[in-house]
Amino acid sequence: MQPKYLQELIRNLQEFYKCPSCETNYHFDDIRFLGDIDLYCFVQLSCHNCSLPVLATVSVNGKSGGKRKSDLRQSEEAKFASKGAITASEIAEFHRWVSKSKTFVKKGK
Ligand SMILES: [Zn+2]
Repeated sequence: MQPKYLQELIRNLQEFYKCPSCETNYHFDDIRFLGDIDLYCFVQLSCHNCSLPVLATVSVNGKSGGKRKSDLRQSEEAKFASKGAITASEIAEFHRWVSKSKTFVKKGK
């Protein structure tokens, strides 16, 4: 992930996400990039006002200049893109996914 794109991603998050609890807009420092798998970026949003942590999955298809291969994940990508707010089950799914993908967590990039 290029730093420049990451900044753009965070700006977009700041624009489109608000704290679901107190509706505070996120600061740049509230947004933590966790990592990316294929077309998805995982970010954690921590509200500076009420400290509520929120996990967000962001599809990066079409925004990264075709740098990543997208052919294998089309159907999943559509599934994610059609979703709105993150639900509890999605967060559970995310945790399952992360624990399944140890290399993703430890890659540290
Ligand atoms: Zn809040």
